[in-house]
Amino acid sequence: MKFMDLGLSGKTLKAIDACGYTQPTEVQEKTIPRILAGANLVVRSQTGTGKTAAFGIGIVERIVSGSTSKALVLTPTRELAMQISSELQELGKNHGLNSCAVYGGQKIGIQLRNLEKKYNVLVATPGRLQDLCKRGKVHLSSFNLIVLDEADHMLDIGFQKEVLDILSHLPSKRVTLLFSATIGRDIKRIVSRHMPSSEFIEAGEQKVVSTIDEENLELSHVDKVSALHRILDSHRGVKTLIFMRTKRGVLKLKRKLEQRKIEGVDMLQGNMEQNKRNRVISGFKGGAINIVVATNVAARGLHIENVDLIVNFDEAENKETHLHRVGRTGRMGAKGKVINLISHDEPRKPNPGNWQRRKGSHGKGSGSRRSPRGMPNGSGGRSFSSGRPRRRRR
Ligand code: AMP
Repeated sequence: MKFMDLGLSGKTLKAIDACGYTQPTEVQEKTIPRILAGANLVVRSQTGTGKTAAFGIGIVERIVSGSTSKALVLTPTRELAMQISSELQELGKNHGLNSCAVYGGQKIGIQLRNLEKKYNVLVATPGRLQDLCKRGKVHLSSFNLIVLDEADHMLDIGFQKEVLDILSHLPSKRVTLLFSATIGRDIKRIVSRHMPSSEFIEAGEQKVVSTIDEENLELSHVDKVSALHRILDSHRGVKTLIFMRTKRGVLKLKRKLEQRKIEGVDMLQGNMEQNKRNRVISGFKGGAINIVVATNVAARGLHIENVDLIVNFDEAENKETHLHRVGRTGRMGAKGKVINLISHDEPRKPNPGNWQRRKGSHGKGSGSRRSPRGMPNGSGGRSFSSGRPRRRRR
């Protein structure tokens, strides 16, 4: 199928061409015609499959045709908010459409000024949006299309109350599009309460993509740093993302790597100023930075492309997070490699039990290989989180 076959306007086709997209991805092929038809959609799709352009193209075409007046995109993190907003801006620019992003972590004054300009799409993190609504700067009644992007992550980090509150203040006559890598109980509840007569679309199997080569390295936790050095040594010049569980761990490991004179190392974690985080992301994209040590803040949605190697220095807390970390490589069919450092003698484990071991999913013996890893069963329910989700900065 070609984009032309989707019945899009010439200006949108031109914008798609300028983005370098020659053919729609599966999620785009399946969702765009339904968005144009005004359907409410629940879309389960893997990360990195082109879902932003899927709803972006749909939004642009609906606004241009006059069936949507203003669209709201809710997304969990500020990085995603910025990325989505700039992709929407590109897709809508030939029509003169404008996108505005509001998110926590940036002074509200700048965003208040941006909101005074004309915009057609507002991309927002839930907390900041509520704040702006309370100040009377955003009126939810003006949006008749809403996208819940990365809905599972939004709920995981504790935005459930905000999301429900925002949904209840939107006009009842609207289009609602929900995108999520997993459809657990909380999502199903939102769908049954706020998305009557919605269609379910599935794009891509819920497993690590087949172009990713995944390897488990079993070792004592005291040997992790030296194992990492060996890995980096044998992958020189390779764009590498190293995931850790804590912000402190990230800082310590980055320093250790710098002390060993490894060049082009930086970090991404929730305590960093937004400007610094942006600089690291663009340095990593541009090639000035080759190795990034990160918390899960980098696991979701960031358009860091062509990451060749992911090292899970600390295992992910659950399979969903693992899937998102791994999704930074092998994007859009590119080849990628993942190395998981698995230690049985970790001094402190934040979670009761370890999902990889509980599921018996790692290989035997040191340096064992398993590839690719299977993903959560069926609906990918939230079997690893306990009780109500709490907000945490990562
Ligand atoms: P997303 O799933 O929205 O995070 O998109 C993942 C990446 O795919 C982004 O870098 C997009 O620019 C890219 N992308 C989206 N649609 C297409 C397409 N049809 N062809 C090639 N790349 C695409």
